[in-house]
Amino acid sequence: MQRRTILHAGAALGLAALSPQLFAASKIKPDAKSALIVVDVQNCFLEGGTLAVKGGNEVVPVINKLSTVFENIAVTQDWHTAGHASFASTYSGKKPFETTKLTYGTQVLWPDHCVQGTDDAAVSKDLKLPTAQLIIRKGFHKEMDSYSAFEEADHKTATGLAGYLKARGIKTVYVTGLATDFCVAWTAMDARKAGFAACVIEDATRGIDLDGSLAAAWKQMTAKGVKRIQSTDILST
Ligand SMILES: [Zn+2]
Repeated sequence: MQRRTILHAGAALGLAALSPQLFAASKIKPDAKSALIVVDVQNCFLEGGTLAVKGGNEVVPVINKLSTVFENIAVTQDWHTAGHASFASTYSGKKPFETTKLTYGTQVLWPDHCVQGTDDAAVSKDLKLPTAQLIIRKGFHKEMDSYSAFEEADHKTATGLAGYLKARGIKTVYVTGLATDFCVAWTAMDARKAGFAACVIEDATRGIDLDGSLAAAWKQMTAKGVKRIQSTDILST
């Protein structure tokens, strides 16, 4: 009995030594039905921008690396008119980060940012995505914001991204960019609503975290079936 136990233990040890891949978590391999979505990595949200996200620049090298393993990549740009409904400066007596009620619900008021055609609204020059196939612009209706790359803030007006991805046969989206608790979260949750599997690659995002909004966003995303993963779940180094 004792000898048999020892033999079994030895066999198990031998298996572990010969087949380490059996004991390591397997990597996610993006395929032709997977798309990387790069949300709002624009000058306005990076260091020195009009609405800089803390640590925002740190997502750039991670996204550049991720882009090498995706054959489908779509980029989004926040693209506001001057005097946009989401700007505090549009309302007398309002300051950035306060809120107001608009026809579609509560709107956080932001500093003026990502105004169409300005350098502030340009995609970061450090982002190297030569294989990206689509740039989708959002938030261009003066009276309505659009955190999500799929639907504007009324939860009705489509940007066209879902149709594009479906026509291309995409089933799973991997969302990266800025900011985790606003445009990334809304994009990932609306991806689920549109019928896609959705993952947020956490270390390829940074949050604004306004009054606990980052933890709240993760909770909402999890409830909607968005998976929280890290770039190391995909990349081998
Ligand atoms: Zn905006």
